[in-house]
Amino acid sequence: METYQRLTEIQTDLRAGKLSCVEIVQQYLTKISALPEINAFVEVYAEEAREAAIRIDAKLRKGTAGRLAGLVIGVKDVICHEGHGLTASSKMLEGFESLFTATALQRLLDEDAIVIGRQGCDEFAMGSTSESSTYGPVLNPLNPQKVPGGSSGGSAAAIAAGMCHASIGSDTGGSVRQPAGFCGLVGMKPTYGRVSRWGLIAYASSFDQISPITRSVEDAALLLEIMAGEDHRDNTASSQPVAHYSNHLSTPQKETYKVGYLKEALESPGLDPAVKAGMEAQIQQLKAAGHEILTIDFPLLEYLVPCYYILTTAEASSNLSRYDGVRYGFRADGVKDLNELYAKSRTQGFGKEVKRRILLGTFVLCAGYYDAYYTQAMKVRRLLRDQTDAIFEQCDFLIMPTTPSTAFDLGEAIEDPIAMYLSDIFTVYANLVGAPAISLPLGKGEDGMPFGIQLMAKHFEEAELLGFAHRM
Ligand code: GLN
Repeated sequence: METYQRLTEIQTDLRAGKLSCVEIVQQYLTKISALPEINAFVEVYAEEAREAAIRIDAKLRKGTAGRLAGLVIGVKDVICHEGHGLTASSKMLEGFESLFTATALQRLLDEDAIVIGRQGCDEFAMGSTSESSTYGPVLNPLNPQKVPGGSSGGSAAAIAAGMCHASIGSDTGGSVRQPAGFCGLVGMKPTYGRVSRWGLIAYASSFDQISPITRSVEDAALLLEIMAGEDHRDNTASSQPVAHYSNHLSTPQKETYKVGYLKEALESPGLDPAVKAGMEAQIQQLKAAGHEILTIDFPLLEYLVPCYYILTTAEASSNLSRYDGVRYGFRADGVKDLNELYAKSRTQGFGKEVKRRILLGTFVLCAGYYDAYYTQAMKVRRLLRDQTDAIFEQCDFLIMPTTPSTAFDLGEAIEDPIAMYLSDIFTVYANLVGAPAISLPLGKGEDGMPFGIQLMAKHFEEAELLGFAHRM
C-alpha cells in the first residue's frame, strides 16, 4: 500500500474499489509485526481492528459509513477506551482497564475511525523522549539510534513507520508537537478547552489537551473538528461553537497576514544552526509571498521553562496523589500499615522521572515555599498571558522553531533532566497561555533528521491557524 498523506485520498480509493478497510488494517498489522524493535505499541488490537474493518466496509457499500471511514488510528496510553487496558506506560497502572471511553475518542469512533492499538509514551506523559516507560524506550523509525520525542513518542513513531495513519496523543507542554517535529509529521495542540479532557489521565490539568498527530494539516483539521466541542463531563471544555476547520482550509479570511517571530527565540544560544537557517529561510519565503513580518521583543522567553516546570509539577503532585495502592493499579506486598502501603506502593509503582516531578511539585506547594515558587509562577503565567494578548494585537500568528534541535540520541537527554526540560522552551509557551499551536515539518538537520516549525495563534483561532498552516 502506498503511503497516503491524507484521509481523503484513502477514501477516494475506497470508493473506487481499489482498496478496502480490511486491506488497510492488514497492511498496518503487517508493518507492526515487521518492526517490533520500534516498540511503538503497548498493545495491538489486531482482531478487533479486523472486525471493525469488516463492519465499516459493509457500511461503505451501503453508503452509511461515517466521515472517518478508512482511518486507522493509534491511541496514546493515557486516553481511556472502554474495555481496553490503560497504564500511562507505568507499572503503577499495570493491569488497569478503562471503564469508559474518553469523549474525544468516542467522537472519532462514532465517525468510524478504527483503533489499531494503544501506543507507548513517557510514564504519565512526563518527558520528551519516550524512554521513561515501563515498557522500555520507543525508537525513532527514521533512525533507530534516535528517540522519537515525547511524551507521545509511540504515537508519532507508529505513523512515521507506517503502522497507522494518524494518532491521538496528549499535549501538556509539547508532547504532540515535539514528537511530530522529530518524526517529520504534523502535530496540533488546540486552544485549552477546545477538546474535552474527559477520559484523559491527568498530568497537569490546566495545561493538558488531547491532540492529533497526522501526516497532513487537512487530517489535523478534520480530526480536531470532530473531537472538539462542548462536553458536560468536562466543565473546562468550551461551549464556543466549533468551526468547520476542514472547509476553511482553502478559504483564507485575508490574502496576507502579519506574522511575528520572537527575536530572543532566533537568537537563543542553544539553537541548532540548521534550525536557525530553516527559520530564516521560512521568514524570507513568507515575506516573498507578501506577508508582513514583525520582529517581536520577548524578554520573558527565559522564564517559560521554569514557570512551566513549577506549575506542571505542582499540578502533577496533586493529580498523582490518587495512585495510592488502594484504589487503582499497583499495590505493594508485605506492608505493616496503611502509611507503609502508600509509601511502598508509590515507591515501587512510579518510575524515576515521575517521582522526581512529584517531589518537585510537593516542594513548590509546601507551606514555606508556596509563595516563593507557586504563587510567583502563577504571576509569571498571568504576565505571559497579558503580553501574548498584546502580541496578538499586533500580529495574526507567531512563528518559532518547534524544538531547538533535531531528535536526541537514545540515552542522551534522559541522563540530563535539566537539559531535557530546557529543550521544551518553544512548545511550553502555548500551553502556559492556553493558545493553539501547530508544528509542521520544516527541514532536516546535519544528522539528516527532521525538525519542525511551530505556528501559534490567538485563542480559538484554530480555523485561521490551520488555514495558514495548510497554505505554507
Ligand atoms: N516534555 C514536556 C514535559 O515533560 C511535555 C510533556 C507533555 O506535553 N505531556 O512536561
